[in-house]
Amino acid sequence: MNAQRTLRRTVSCTGIGLHSGNKVTLSLKPAAADYGIRFQRSDLGGLEIPAIVTHLGGIQYQTGLTREAVSVETVEHLLAALTALGIDNAIVELNSPEVPIMDGSAAPFVHLIVNEAGVKKLASPRRYLKVLRPIALTQGDKRIALYPAEHLKVTYSISFDHPLLRHQSRTMRISEESFVEDIAPARTFGFLKEVEMLRQRGLALGGSLDNAIVLGETGALNALRFEDEFVRHKILDVIGDLTLVGHPVIGHLVAHRGGHALHTAFAAKILEETDAWKLVEAPADTDAVLVPGARTLGAARLAH
Ligand SMILES: [Zn+2]
Repeated sequence: MNAQRTLRRTVSCTGIGLHSGNKVTLSLKPAAADYGIRFQRSDLGGLEIPAIVTHLGGIQYQTGLTREAVSVETVEHLLAALTALGIDNAIVELNSPEVPIMDGSAAPFVHLIVNEAGVKKLASPRRYLKVLRPIALTQGDKRIALYPAEHLKVTYSISFDHPLLRHQSRTMRISEESFVEDIAPARTFGFLKEVEMLRQRGLALGGSLDNAIVLGETGALNALRFEDEFVRHKILDVIGDLTLVGHPVIGHLVAHRGGHALHTAFAAKILEETDAWKLVEAPADTDAVLVPGARTLGAARLAH
């Protein structure tokens, strides 16, 4: 059986929100099978907000979730780490609205999950959303589509009016290992010329060279971790946003010039097009999708 997973124990970290600048403590807690990923605001009585697109909140320079006037923000990097490491069920507790940005990547969350929490298998099968026919969404010059495939693959291309970012493109088969090595460390990025505009709108108040790549007129103000760190971060973002369909996806996602608005609109469209996919318990090649596999970092820590 391709089993659902949760965390072995509760873990916490503290940081600041990228947009709010507020200090926040994040706790990840184990949860039962079929619970899914749900956020809780401990400062507001603990109302649960499931990480599904029906609870989508703000999508301006981040992805937020909302339910009954309670919201959480900047969930995408944490969701990417949980999804890519195959954590189907977890409680995410915050004592402030915004998930901590940490270093701007998903690597600190991977460390927290793999090295501190550990991963536990549950006695229920995981169900994947397997794509049967293409689903596509276009918004102006932005495009996103999902095609049938035997594994989760992502092709992303970006194009900005900046010398470093005229064109970057990458195709990746997403496994635990490839995510941890090639995607999780890629940091969020922003343009120096937009910082003042963002701050006037109450955004990026916690942003700094410690948690984002900042692009000046001709280049980055900080050292890059990968030459194409920008498109890798876009892949990270779309894996996080795609989590909001509620199941790990089997298909080939192709996106061009996307952002959180496009990614999340697409997650909603996927769920609407119920004839374009089916839920399956185990793919033919179980080594190929996000979680299973002996080579993974998490495998050594699995509880059997
Ligand atoms: Zn991001």
